Amino acid sequence: MRKSDLDFSLSPLSRPVPPAWHSLTPQDCLRELDASTEGLSTAQTAERLARQGPNRLELAAGRSHLSILWDQLSNIMLLMLLAVAAMSAAIAFQAHRFPKDAIAIVLIVGLNALLGYIQESRAQQALLALREMAQPLVTVRRDAHWERLSSELLVPGDLIRLEAGDRVPADARLLEAAELGLREAALTGEAEAVFKKADLLLEASTPVLERQNCLFQGTEVVRGRGTAVVTATGMDTELGQIAQLINTAGGESTPLQERLDGLANVLVISALALVAVVVLGGWLLGQPLLGLLEVALSMAVAIVPEGLPAVITVTLAIGTQRMVQRAALIRRLPAVETLGSVTVICTDKTGTLTLNRQVVVELRCGSQSIAVSGQGYDPHGSFTPAELTAPEGAVAGITAGARDLLLAAGVLCSDAELKKAEDGSWDVLGDPTEGALVVAAGKAQLDVFALRSRYRRTAEIPFSSERQLMAVWVEDSEGTLQHPLGEVASASHTLLITKGAPEVILRSCDRWIGGNGVTALNASQRHWWLEQARGLAASGLRVLAFGCAPHHSSPEQALDHLVLLGLMAQLDPPRPGVAVAVARCREAGIRPVMITGDHPLTARAIGQAIGLLDGEAEVVLGRELEQFNDARLQEVVSRCTVYARVPPEQKLRIVKALQANGQVVAMTGDGVNDAPALKQAHIGVAMGITGTEVSKEASDMVLLDDNFATIVNAVEEGRLVYANIRRFIKYIFGSNVGELITIASAPLLGLVGVPLTPLQILWMNLVTDGFPALALALEPGEEGLMQRPPAEPGESIFARGIGRYVLRIGVVFAAITIVLMVYAFRSGAPWQTMVFTTLCLAQMGHALTARSDLPLVQVNPFSNPWLLWAVLVTSALQMALLYVPALSNFFVTTPLCLHDLAICVGFSLLFFLYLELDKIWRLWSRRAHADA
Ligand code: ATP
Repeated sequence: MRKSDLDFSLSPLSRPVPPAWHSLTPQDCLRELDASTEGLSTAQTAERLARQGPNRLELAAGRSHLSILWDQLSNIMLLMLLAVAAMSAAIAFQAHRFPKDAIAIVLIVGLNALLGYIQESRAQQALLALREMAQPLVTVRRDAHWERLSSELLVPGDLIRLEAGDRVPADARLLEAAELGLREAALTGEAEAVFKKADLLLEASTPVLERQNCLFQGTEVVRGRGTAVVTATGMDTELGQIAQLINTAGGESTPLQERLDGLANVLVISALALVAVVVLGGWLLGQPLLGLLEVALSMAVAIVPEGLPAVITVTLAIGTQRMVQRAALIRRLPAVETLGSVTVICTDKTGTLTLNRQVVVELRCGSQSIAVSGQGYDPHGSFTPAELTAPEGAVAGITAGARDLLLAAGVLCSDAELKKAEDGSWDVLGDPTEGALVVAAGKAQLDVFALRSRYRRTAEIPFSSERQLMAVWVEDSEGTLQHPLGEVASASHTLLITKGAPEVILRSCDRWIGGNGVTALNASQRHWWLEQARGLAASGLRVLAFGCAPHHSSPEQALDHLVLLGLMAQLDPPRPGVAVAVARCREAGIRPVMITGDHPLTARAIGQAIGLLDGEAEVVLGRELEQFNDARLQEVVSRCTVYARVPPEQKLRIVKALQANGQVVAMTGDGVNDAPALKQAHIGVAMGITGTEVSKEASDMVLLDDNFATIVNAVEEGRLVYANIRRFIKYIFGSNVGELITIASAPLLGLVGVPLTPLQILWMNLVTDGFPALALALEPGEEGLMQRPPAEPGESIFARGIGRYVLRIGVVFAAITIVLMVYAFRSGAPWQTMVFTTLCLAQMGHALTARSDLPLVQVNPFSNPWLLWAVLVTSALQMALLYVPALSNFFVTTPLCLHDLAICVGFSLLFFLYLELDKIWRLWSRRAHADA
């Protein structure tokens, strides 16, 4: 056998070795991939997708099944039940009885673990399915058009465009890049950004991590932009090959679930202590030890709320479903619960509080204000100029062509495209701020396509929130720059065009286009322009200034000697419903805070329009924040509600300061640099539509509609989940305490025998308590949920009256049952069955009253039909346990005569009556207290 044959047969990969893309020029790569700069055709992509499969990494989803199962079995309460089963079996063997209880306990424990396992696996599946909904989108060129597609549809040969905040969706070879920086932590673990260049040619042997002209799936674009051709997708990518994706899916337990685990230990210890007291007391009273031991076993079973973990899991899962129906997608389960405790919501302005459908409504050019009319993104409208008082020392009016030059600069210094949908409506692909510029140019009948083909972009500085400007270098392909550009750029065919925040652009301008062409910009004229920008911002408009300069050898120098072309002001109206949402926040004790990169006056105007900012309350600036030390910052964040010109990194400081003040913070973000703040906040909220993939991955919740009102809705749902959890905790523990005292009292009152067998208790805890508890978790809503302050984060599950309720109700429940027990015992009736029946029936009444703090007559009984069904079915099952012989034998019950059954029903009604009177009394005394 020849050596080469041997090598081939041992090769782990039977597929052809791909070319070394990094050693080929962009053109060669395109040729190899049978692709072009116009993108693939529909037919090509369909064929490649069928051959290659979707661009997806096949990974084990979330927590392993084994680990979920282990969680069910390693629970201390479950271990205690198994110990009870063992002792019960020993007692049965000793008495030559069949160990029915022991077997039933083991079966039920097994069944419970299985149910818990199924519930939790399903909850995890649901969570993963929700995440699937947030499928990353990517900008792809197909059939000579750029479009946004799910990254799963990518195939080799596709042309993709990436910018800061995007996650690289597949392996690709760069075709062009502008300041493109990538964080390749997914591959290297290095957080430091790596700069990529399209025009490098590397040795074929260059290691993967040094291939500076290639992009790899799973890495993140942290700055700049670039275009690339996809070379590998799915499991063929470097990431797919080494299968090294950090798997963060699902399976986290919520703070409440953790607290419940803690509670389990407390319950087990108290059970043991109580058992000791009862056994000792009974023994001192002369009770037989074996009987006492049986009582002890029953008590141990009674104290464990067997049904609770399943009910909580189901409630949280229902909560996530309800939230997604209201456009809030939960990525981490603990968020459901934390939402209920949120005290501050920090939000951006653009897109969340406003519609992010910018429209240019006014230009400032020369000494003219030019109003722009039109509807939405429709590029039809008119311009109405009005003369302003010219700045000091300037010629009034406007130079011919200056308006169109300003509009053309807007087109050339933007990447957005205008698209007409089939229904005739217009939409923008790209940043709406830039889309508005293209629309405005359309209104002046400028041919956007012709402009962009004639003035080709040769270099650029992409927009970033930190820099607050974007700059492009364009070259006139026809060789001459026309007037008045020609005047600016007489010595060069290349021109720098820049746009950005007026303060930033004006700082770099030393000339401007006034009434008589390009003249020097003096201090008072600069001041005049700044005042113009302030005036526009004060009416809630977003203002961009435009500058240009002939090409100089160094970009820094060019950026320092700009000619001011003018201003464009855009209207981005508040979203409908946001003002109401802000008011709801206030009512609910939550402070909404706006943190924006926009001008302070724009921020103030929008803040006032939506009721976020009262009167003249201060707006704090990003640069002021920089000066504050931590203590001062903590003091400022405790009162300030609007922050303007804040760069993303300051958001992290604001979150930390709020948290140091004890606030529970929800924070929205969309850019790549928002990720640290999103991670730091208790609830990081990403934007589903405009958010970058990186921000989505750092978040706990994604707003599918980018709307602030959705956060408030999610908070409401979170509060409902929490209220429902409290409701059934109250119900379940109230019943457990009642059972426990009843059982414990029997030997102390001299009754011989155990009131309830472990089997009967398990039946009660899982069936007669379990079903209604599940139905309580489905309560549709609660009066006043958003009119009360948020829950204390990390508060005990027995906080705010629940502990007292459980004890009070448990004691009364037990007292009523004990009276019945003693009466039945004395009168020779089947007292154990009567106790069992009364406890079960009384719990039905308890379930009905636990729905609300209001008396039942004031609650619509049909608003939770599940509860009515649960009560009916459970009562019927309870009757079956008494009157179906096989069940009655198994559960050791005696069929009750009508008289005895009536007594049980009567005592249950007594308990129900007490519960209702207790509510009425409490409501009355609360009102009396409030009146006083
Ligand atoms: P937020 O979304 O945080 O509420 P924002 O979107 O208004 O705020 P940024 O996008 O950081 O904040 O914008 C800050 C400023 O930068 C704007 O006020 C505007 O003057 C300028 N600007 C915004 N977008 C662009 C752009 N595409 N090109 C140039 N300048 C821009």
